[in-house]
Amino acid sequence: MGGIFPKIGILGLQGAFQKHHEMFKGIQVEARFILYPGQIRECDGLVLPGGESTTMTKLISEMHLRDELDAFSGPIFGTCAGAILLSKSAGDSRVQTLKRMDIRIDRKGYGRQVDSFIQSVQLTFDKTPFRGIFIRAPRIVDFSDGVEVLGEFEGEAVFLRDNNNLLATFHPELSNDARVHQYFIDQFF
Ligand code: GLN
Repeated sequence: MGGIFPKIGILGLQGAFQKHHEMFKGIQVEARFILYPGQIRECDGLVLPGGESTTMTKLISEMHLRDELDAFSGPIFGTCAGAILLSKSAGDSRVQTLKRMDIRIDRKGYGRQVDSFIQSVQLTFDKTPFRGIFIRAPRIVDFSDGVEVLGEFEGEAVFLRDNNNLLATFHPELSNDARVHQYFIDQFF
């Protein structure tokens, strides 16, 4: 691992990757965008951003990143569409998940009416709630006993850990609050 200076790769194929970079910069962590084969294995940790999981699935194949992603054993943090990609199943045959977290997720679990919403997420590791921005967010359907819930609102698990993987169904990179990114760094590097 990279000691106190981990190299974080942010999948930069599609979606909300830029803001993650700014977040890490704000906490003095080096991050670079991943676009090509060979870049993933140079990283200590990865971020899979929000966007559109069906499009990301296609682009991962087209850019020949699938094998390297499957082989990556370091920590991964997925947000929104990235969370969908980390799950065991997303209930949509167009989405090829990495199956790194023992979680079932519903891509459009909150329905179209509540396209986007903001909720106060209660964190297990900090008293101050996190302003959770949910954008066409996926919904956790269920998860195994080994999965730890790190954040929830109204009984909905929205921030979870399974081994060295983290997922948030919201967009922590949009809240001008680095605690979730800092948590990822502190826990795994
Ligand atoms: N529901 C979207 C998907 O299926 C994710 C939305 C988001 O990342 N903001 O990929």
